Amino acid sequence: MNPILYLVIPCYNEETVLPITAPFFLNKIEELIGCSKISPESRILFVDDGSTDGTWNIIKNMSEDYIAVKGISLSRNRGHQNALLAGLLEAKEFCDISISIDCDGQDDINAVDKMVDEYLSGADIVYGVRDNRKSDTWFKKSSAKCYYRVLNLFGANVIYNHADYRLMSKRVLEELSKYKEVNLYLRGMIPLIGFKSTSVFYERHKRLAGKSKYPLRKMLHLAFDGITSLTVKPIHIITGFGFIVALISGIGIVWSVVAKLTGHTVAGWTSIISIICFLGGIQLLSLGVIGEYVGKIYLETKNRPRYVIKDKTPEDK
Ligand code: UDP
Ligand code: MG
Repeated sequence: MNPILYLVIPCYNEETVLPITAPFFLNKIEELIGCSKISPESRILFVDDGSTDGTWNIIKNMSEDYIAVKGISLSRNRGHQNALLAGLLEAKEFCDISISIDCDGQDDINAVDKMVDEYLSGADIVYGVRDNRKSDTWFKKSSAKCYYRVLNLFGANVIYNHADYRLMSKRVLEELSKYKEVNLYLRGMIPLIGFKSTSVFYERHKRLAGKSKYPLRKMLHLAFDGITSLTVKPIHIITGFGFIVALISGIGIVWSVVAKLTGHTVAGWTSIISIICFLGGIQLLSLGVIGEYVGKIYLETKNRPRYVIKDKTPEDK
């Protein structure tokens, strides 16, 4: 039996790009059904992430015209990671394999063939890894490189140059559904699930229309979320720092007492100010980092739903 494939595609205010990219997705599904690689029950599942433009209408209209198109709409904008999870968990009920892909045409749809081949040869997770970053600005390129370095330094296992373009089998989705955390960083969580995984390489293109929904602020937020949801190493680093500063302070105390006793004390304004500034800075930074983790615990304990589905296109007849 050929596997049922669900392409899961999050969309947020994408009315300009959807009419351009949707035919590519449809063609790919039809092509794969045509060459009997996937089942005719395969579908495209668009997730409208609380768009305020005509995105949901476009999805609904497409689902009326094409049996292969389905959609769910979230009650408000919950961000890319939550929208993706909503789509994956919805797809889990119907599919044998899911492939998540952005709706803006940046991820090369032709890599889907290679991903399905890898699945058919036994892989449960296939990561789409970009060949190069030609289409990125210098800033995005170098900040991404630094970020992967930092993450790996902190002991988090993330695939270099892989975003959220990946294939997952049904059993991986089943396991993913057991991860109940609200601070989502899928590209870090999925390698933790295990199973046989592999990568396929593709060239990432420029966005075909519309604007990126990831401004610097959101990017930094996701980057920080990545670190704090995958590792507590920053807290260990703070502890290490604390030890070093305590040691230096001990030496400083001995030195000051000896200086006092030998009558070498002078009006050391500069040294006092430097020490106060140094300690003040370290303490605030440390408190901030620990506070981030406390904030995460706060959000996790509330256990609020990660998304609410407001509307769905009708079930297949
Ligand atoms: N997206 C989403 N919710 C958001 C932001 C983005 O569902 O709050 C979707 C968006 O429609 C796109 C994908 O996530 O399909 C990636 O976003 P984008 O292309 O803007 O990010 P970039 O490629 O610039 O990092
Ligand atoms: Mg994009």
